[in-house]
Amino acid sequence: MKLLVTGAAGFIGSHYVRTMLAGGYPGWEDCRVTVLDKLGHGSNVANLPAAHPRLTFVRGDICDLPLLLDLLPGHDAVVHFAAESHVDRSIDDASDFVRTNVDGTHTVLAACHRAGVERMVHVSTDEVYGSVEHGTSPETAPLLPNSPYAASKAASDLIVRSFVRTHGFDVSITRCSNNYGPHQDIEKLIPLFITNLMEGVPVPLYGDGRNVREWLHVDDHCRAIQLVLAKGAAGEIYNVGGGNAYTNNEITRMLLELTGADKSMVRRVADRPGHDLRYAIDETKIREQLGYEPAVPFHEGLAETCAWYRDNPDWWKPKKSGVQR
Ligand code: NAD
Repeated sequence: MKLLVTGAAGFIGSHYVRTMLAGGYPGWEDCRVTVLDKLGHGSNVANLPAAHPRLTFVRGDICDLPLLLDLLPGHDAVVHFAAESHVDRSIDDASDFVRTNVDGTHTVLAACHRAGVERMVHVSTDEVYGSVEHGTSPETAPLLPNSPYAASKAASDLIVRSFVRTHGFDVSITRCSNNYGPHQDIEKLIPLFITNLMEGVPVPLYGDGRNVREWLHVDDHCRAIQLVLAKGAAGEIYNVGGGNAYTNNEITRMLLELTGADKSMVRRVADRPGHDLRYAIDETKIREQLGYEPAVPFHEGLAETCAWYRDNPDWWKPKKSGVQR
């Protein structure tokens, strides 16, 4: 088995590849992996092993059709993580989001079509459902994205759907809730707050802090993706949640406690425009059809994540000076 994994110098893709290369997915111990990543926002080349006999790293853009046509032959499947992923950046300027998330996903699909690689997992997000006042969104819920990021991901999901329907592609889509864990870029909420607090810098909390997100450890998300790759059906969408729903106020309180900081370190800032109040997904399908179970208890995972940032300042300190606080 040989996989092309896009965007795997980033947070989730690199966790997936490291686990794959470490033999963490039973039955896939011999799998060879080609990573395609342009080393843009969210990436860190140190997220991947510098050398591994089953890993090939290619620095390049998923919008580069000739490059993909050159790379793809000989691969059995694609796991597609590459994306512009930071909502705040999409509010400032969405053009890269449309380019990578929409055009890039189309380019990957078109290249797969021409190269005869028809199995793919497209990694999407619960944000495509928009804000959910009550209850939970099943996979059949309407797509009502509110941020340019979420809209670009929803558009990519629809392009995937069209390749399944029109060309008979064997593509499955995962829609996951917020991930946390080691190696996440320090622009994102949990690592931003942890690293600010570790440096004695106040944390910026949007609005009244009542926004609710479901949090899932990156290891659980990656196991779900692997399950979908191995057993998921063509054209099917699988929500991946975990059920750890917390407000941003609650997450902030937990991080203050874990880092030994007090609430004077919280700075309320103007709310993000179009900020969704609540995401909540129904993940019955992946549990019942594929036997998925998240394994990392939230409080343990969060404490381990804090410890990882404490123990790996060389990974994040060089980036910190360039990050808005
Ligand atoms: P990330 O920003 O950490 O990593 C994205 C990677 O994609 C980076 O390494 C970047 O260099 C690469 N990339 C961006 N544009 C590219 C291009 N044009 N060509 C090649 N590579 C490119 O993001 P992440 O948090 O690891 O998210 C991975 C995927 O999971 C994304 O598709 C995201 O939408 C989805 N997702 C993320 C979360 C989350 O909480 N982080 C939740 C649900 C879904």
